[in-house]
Amino acid sequence: MVVVCGGGVVGLTIARELALEGADVMVIEKEEDFGLHASGRNSGVLHAGIYYTPDSLKAKFAIEGNRLLRKFVKERGIPINESGKVIVARDEEDHERLLNLYERAKRNGAKVHLIDERELAEIEPNARTYREAIYSPNTAVVNPKDVMEALAADVMDTGRVRALLGVRCIRRAGPRKILTSAGTYEYDVLINAAGAHAEKLAHTYGVGLRYRLIPFKGTYRKLKRGELVRGNIYPVPHPKSPFLGVHFTRDPYGNVFVGPTAIPALGRENYGLLEGIDLEAPVILYRDAVMFLRNPLFRYVALREPRKYFKPYFYRSSRWMLRNLEYGDIVPSSKVGIRAQLVDWESKELVMDFVIEREEDSIHILNAVSPAFTASFPFARYVVDEFLR
Ligand SMILES: Cc1cc2nc3c(=O)[nH]c(=O)nc-3n(C[C@H](O)[C@H](O)[C@H](O)COP(=O)(O)OP(=O)(O)OC[C@H]3O[C@@H](n4cnc5c(N)ncnc54)[C@H](O)[C@@H]3O)c2cc1C
Repeated sequence: MVVVCGGGVVGLTIARELALEGADVMVIEKEEDFGLHASGRNSGVLHAGIYYTPDSLKAKFAIEGNRLLRKFVKERGIPINESGKVIVARDEEDHERLLNLYERAKRNGAKVHLIDERELAEIEPNARTYREAIYSPNTAVVNPKDVMEALAADVMDTGRVRALLGVRCIRRAGPRKILTSAGTYEYDVLINAAGAHAEKLAHTYGVGLRYRLIPFKGTYRKLKRGELVRGNIYPVPHPKSPFLGVHFTRDPYGNVFVGPTAIPALGRENYGLLEGIDLEAPVILYRDAVMFLRNPLFRYVALREPRKYFKPYFYRSSRWMLRNLEYGDIVPSSKVGIRAQLVDWESKELVMDFVIEREEDSIHILNAVSPAFTASFPFARYVVDEFLR
């Protein structure tokens, strides 16, 4: 039997692949339902393979993941907004970066077009750019909760998957044994897909000891006048930031979200101001402090992002992308997620790609950051093919 710890999109897609191949699987999820963390709280953007370093796992799986997730969504009748996305530039310097991004996207095999201001106005009448923009017709948006619900139903329908909800994987309890909050279970193979908690569990196996997690809080606001945006409007990512920047995303129900931020958080589930802060907070603060001193990318993010808690700053950081955006158009939203960012503690570098580590009888998925939602189907296939055969 294969035990999968974690019932997010990564754990469930792997469980599905295994079950379709005839394996018996047990998914252990600490919450009372699947997808309550990153997988159900993300922007729901089906990315189109634009940003990623060539040869990375992200580049390898984003385009195929987009195609497969889109197919899954359509077969299940899940609402989807297929209006595409534009990436806009603020000034001359940004335009230079936009052109580089366009070249990278093409090298990755992504379908992208360089468009001028007139063409931009046809696609997103209210978007603003400096000279040119990138248009990605294959970017789409879903409500991630819809996908997680359908995926969970699919997984259970295979008839080969048992779900243990409300049970936590705690640590290795000997060869092919895991201690959980409901006792010890034996397995042939264990897959650690515990998202923001994965590196902690991996450490009990002596795996991934060079990595530490740093959580970033992704908060969103909403647009009162949703009609200002048809699809997705993104800035060119700043070279000093590992994140894509606050953007406008219209979901299939007509809600336009503005976000997410990337504010250093004090806990792996620190969704509110104090919610989710536990005994680990001092350890996380220590990691943040070390990273602040040692890593310029982290410092850049840590100095700028927390200001976005405040609406005037949040408004200023997004208004340049949208004509006619008024201060009152930005309203609060309860949507918030935690980006579980891995750091290589030896070099103090942020880890940019997905990481999979294998020990004799266990496989650990350690940095399933964006676009792991988009990439989940081919990524799961890859894990099963490469690591389980
Ligand atoms: C704000 C935000 C926006 C994003 N936007 C996008 C986007 O637009 N497009 C995209 O492709 N990606 C996006 N992502 C990334 C995407 O959401 C994640 O890459 C993906 O959801 C990771 O899935 P996961 O299964 O690894 O993690 P999770 O969904 O967090 O699942 C892990 C699960 O493991 C469970 N768990 C943890 N510890 C244990 C334990 N010890 N025992 C048992 N269960 C445990 C948790 O309860 C959780 O359900 C975004 C992420 C964030 C935070």
